[in-house]
This record gives sequence, structure tokens and C-alpha cells, in this order.
Amino acid sequence: MSRLHDKDVTVGMPDGLMSFEHRRVWEKFFAALGVKTVSSGKTTNDIIRYGVSLCSNETCLPVKVLAGHAASLCGKADCIFVPRCMSVCKGEKSCPKLCGLPDVIRLSLKNKVPVTGVTVDLDTSVKESGKSLSALSETIGREKRSVESAFLRIVVPGLAAENSPNAFIPELNVEKEKPVIAVLGHPYMIFDELLSMELIKKLISAGYRVLTPYDIKRSVRRANARPFAGRSFYETGLDILGAFNVFRKMDIVAGMVYLTPFACGVDSIAAEFVERGIREEPRKPFLKLTVDEHSGESGFDTRLEAFLDMLPAGSLNEKRQSV
Ligand code: SF4
Repeated sequence: MSRLHDKDVTVGMPDGLMSFEHRRVWEKFFAALGVKTVSSGKTTNDIIRYGVSLCSNETCLPVKVLAGHAASLCGKADCIFVPRCMSVCKGEKSCPKLCGLPDVIRLSLKNKVPVTGVTVDLDTSVKESGKSLSALSETIGREKRSVESAFLRIVVPGLAAENSPNAFIPELNVEKEKPVIAVLGHPYMIFDELLSMELIKKLISAGYRVLTPYDIKRSVRRANARPFAGRSFYETGLDILGAFNVFRKMDIVAGMVYLTPFACGVDSIAAEFVERGIREEPRKPFLKLTVDEHSGESGFDTRLEAFLDMLPAGSLNEKRQSV
């Protein structure tokens, strides 16, 4: 693979938002091009504080946190990679905040470091990515032909994969014999240990097995995403609704927790359908937890403990001690 210029560019990868689902796909893409990447790592309280200070109040928490991740990479990378994710497959749209994400991050960072990315709009056409792939090839110093080829081989199939490309997700569920709690929510909420206040770890240490939308195949989530199955809707909303409709019919699922960030437009629709649906399942206790940058862990834990108390008797004392 020939290079356009000699300097080796290091690309900064902010570890928030859709990186939780797509991280490994983009890492593979850059590795195939021989480009070094540096990740911002796990969310910290400093990253949250920094991100909140950079964004307007109306922005949802995960976007603020991504801005904090991007800012933490200043001085460590030559450019920050933020894809413009319009849609990752036919018939689906991304949340409008993901469509405008590179612009939000560029404004937040006030040009301290260049923001680069790729436009992904697979609902319209793979050709929509052309211009942005050219610009990326200039930034990272690789031939456009190689960048386009890596995009078609790795990114296009990877983003719409049947199973989540993020290998650490299925590892969460190892002990098959335990009762199950289904955790609904966006991957960047439920798998971010700080934003989720370690919800999954707490449920596991309380004696439960945890299932998430990402334990279900993508095609199964889509087929069950009532009332939007087969219709155009937001990608993460389809994931949540499809998983909910599968979990509600599973006897081993003892209850469900829906973790949502304050001010999420997609959840304002999806959660409404979930809450209507759960009323038809009186034997499945349900807890909706809304968090923002001001949420405290003690209030969170109290609500979780009350939820666990609603579950069928079994090992309540053990559960209480663990939360
Ligand atoms: S889906 Fe919700 S949480 Fe995610 S970026 Fe959009 S508004 Fe924010």
C-alpha cells in the first residue's frame, strides 16, 4: 500500500456513543490501512465534566460525554475521528444527533485539533461516502483506492452485522442457569460503566444473568420491532423495541430495566411503546431509570434495590446485600 506523504498520522478515537457498537469495525479499518489509532479509553468523571462544559445544555448526555472523550485526545492525536452516521443499513436512520455529530464536535473543540470522519448513509447509497473517503485519504496519507476498498470490505458489512462486532458484549452473559434480567438501552449507556453506574455488574453480583438487545441477532431484533418492524425508524429505537418484544415473551426473563439518558429524542418514542407493552405483562416487573450528569448513585441504587424487591421471592437477602 503506497502512502501519499511520509508523516505517520495518529488518529484519535473517542470512546463514546456508537463506538460501543462499531469500535472494532473502525479499528479494523484503520489497521488494514496501516494507520495508528489511539483511544480515549473508559469514561471518567473528568471526561463527563469536560464534555458538559463544552456542549449546550439541551444536548443529550451521551453527546456531551463524546465531546469530553474527543477533547481528552487533544495533544495525543493528529486528528479526531468522528463518523457521520446517517444510516447503517437499508430502511433505517440514525438519530439526528449522530448525523450532525462531527459538526458538534468540531465546534466544541474550537479547531484545537482537526476532526475527520466518514459519512455513512447506507440507506441511501454507499456512494454517499465517496467525498468523505477522499478527504480521509488525504488526512491519513493513504491512497483513495485503498481507503475505499477497506471501507467496502470491512466497514459496510461490519456495521450491519448480525452479531455485534464488539466482542466484549456477549462475554457478559456466562452463567446460563441463573434467572435473567433484561437491560434495555443504547449500547453507549448500558455498556459504559460510569454512565450506567455499573448497572450490569450490580445485577450480576445480585445473582442474575443479564441479557441486552445485543445478545439477540440483528435480524431478530428488526423482525420484532413492533410497531416499526419493516418500517423506517431510528436504528437504536429498532434495537430496543425489537429486543423488548423478544424479552417480554421469554419465561426466563424475570424483569426488565430500561436505562435512558435525559433528553433522548429516540427514547421518548421507544420508551412510550415499551411502557405500554409492559402493562400487558403483569408478571414482569419493570424499572425505567433516567440519568443525566447530575444523577447520584445512591438514588439510583435505592430504586434498583426496590425493583429487585418486586421480583419473585428467591434470594432477596443475597440480592439486597449485593446492590
Ligand atoms: S439516540 Fe438519544 S442518546 Fe443517542 S444520540 Fe440520539 S438523542 Fe442522544
